[in-house]
Amino acid sequence: MAEVNEEKSLNFIQQIIKDDKKNGKNESRVHTRFPPEPNGYLHIGHAKSICLNFGLAQQFDGKCNLRFDDTNPSKEETEYVDSIMEDIKWLGFEWEGDPHYTSDYFDQLFEWAVKLIKDGKAYVDDQSAELISEQKKSPTEEGIESPYRNRSVEENYDLFLRMKNGEFKDGEKVLRAKIDMNSPNMHMRDPIIYRIMNAEHHRTGNKWCIYPMYDFAHGESDYLEGITHSICTLEFEVHRPLYNWFVENLTDTEYRPRQIEFARLNLSYTVMSKRKLLELVEGNIVSGWDDPRMPTVSGLRRRGYTPDSIRMFADKIGVAKRENVIDVSLLEYCVREDLNNKAPRAMAILDPVKVVIDNYPEDKVEMMNIAYHQKDESMGSREVPFTKELYIERSDYMEDAPKKFFRLSEGREVRFRGAYILKCESVEKDADGNISVIHCTYDEETRSGSGSEASKRKVKGTIHWLSASHSLDAEVRLYDRLFSDPAPDGHKDVDYKEFLNSESLEILSNCKVEPALANVKPLDFFQFVRMGYFNVDKDSTKEKLVFNRTVSLKDSWAKMNK
Ligand code: ATP
Ligand code: MG
Repeated sequence: MAEVNEEKSLNFIQQIIKDDKKNGKNESRVHTRFPPEPNGYLHIGHAKSICLNFGLAQQFDGKCNLRFDDTNPSKEETEYVDSIMEDIKWLGFEWEGDPHYTSDYFDQLFEWAVKLIKDGKAYVDDQSAELISEQKKSPTEEGIESPYRNRSVEENYDLFLRMKNGEFKDGEKVLRAKIDMNSPNMHMRDPIIYRIMNAEHHRTGNKWCIYPMYDFAHGESDYLEGITHSICTLEFEVHRPLYNWFVENLTDTEYRPRQIEFARLNLSYTVMSKRKLLELVEGNIVSGWDDPRMPTVSGLRRRGYTPDSIRMFADKIGVAKRENVIDVSLLEYCVREDLNNKAPRAMAILDPVKVVIDNYPEDKVEMMNIAYHQKDESMGSREVPFTKELYIERSDYMEDAPKKFFRLSEGREVRFRGAYILKCESVEKDADGNISVIHCTYDEETRSGSGSEASKRKVKGTIHWLSASHSLDAEVRLYDRLFSDPAPDGHKDVDYKEFLNSESLEILSNCKVEPALANVKPLDFFQFVRMGYFNVDKDSTKEKLVFNRTVSLKDSWAKMNK
């Protein structure tokens, strides 16, 4: 169990749980749950909620359930259920026992609705949902009571059974709790608790044509699972009296689940509602839910984010009581931090130009032994072939370069990483004036690690390289933010899609990587020295390697926060 003695280091939710435990509430049990609706893939906001709920259970020796909140058959699918389970496991968490489904409780919820009817606390309303909503008025006005509000218990019971038996069409009738049409809290103004929906459910098939509403189902599901702390986002704060009303009116044990609200995660330069993410997928604006530009857990995974980096992010942002927007560069900072330690280094040339070493023997191949990670010997090393003809990055040469350009230019020397010091002699250009070959000479005495005086000579620049004949072809996908505006869905009269960044994906199809990468598998990750962190995409094959740039090496967030 993690340390929970330090009072001041506890966030407000940890403090509540600690106090509840101390006071013996619910026999000092701690049982949380993560309750996604299976109507889309999980995003980074859900990841925060997962880290929070599972993290609290770990910290307080408790349990955490996974519950699919599947009360809306028209939007829910098994594909989503499967992806949600995969994502939670990938993040490194384990739910208690088997997954739960709100649909498992449909019988019990129905019984409870009948109980409310029999207690005179619920009635069937024949009005449309729109009219009902209008009659609720505003918090400062009195609401209008439905003409059906005072139906007898017998009539309500009969109608509700007929609703269940499929005698009415969608929207013809609803069941409402009879609470208070003048409550200052709009959610207490006779909320709808059941609606008719003739739709096939992904688990219960056609057994039901009436489905419970969120407010009715959620607290009761918490109750049935013995949840002690039901953590949700701030917009549910105003639902809390209703949550408590249902539990009070339906159950009579001492045990009470408790709803606690925290601020949802908002991230800059993206959208996070499942409806909008689905729209991007269905409109083919992205390649799928796992497009590496998506803020989904599957997108982040495909992009090269590690579970540790996402947990680190959730930890750093903590829990707040007020809405705010977290800069996406904090997320990038976390993955850089994590990959800096974990990623083996490799050499890749994204925009290759040829170098010929004029005084190097024609057919000679030297194997340069280069460590995968300078600070972690356990990663070992690999042999990188060095030959007369090499590739380097086009940007590592400059004609008429300024003094501070410590790379190649006529007459200048640089070290080729883990190999020799090379001196640039001349260049050849093609018909369009582009550099086609850079001619260099090398000094045999300068070989790295040879121990000679010449090898210890300091030159200002070190660049990476690959043997032209040994390097492998690769495609590299560079990503930028999906939106060019920090808050794409924060504009009142402009659709968020207007802010899509047309340059969010750049495909480089003429890249070279070192031969040691011949057998990489999807999700393997590397630091391509000087270029950033990259991983292997699921599109990669032996014939055609495909890499994603997870994040560049440049760290704007760390600089901003120094
Ligand atoms: P969306 O609005 O994106 O569709 P949702 O709230 O409807 O999200 P659910 O599947 O109902 O999605 O959410 C499951 C859990 O994840 C809920 O407890 C919810 O509070 C939490 N959650 C959803 N979005 C965020 C977020 N941005 N930050 C933190 N927690 C979130
Ligand atoms: Mg929801």
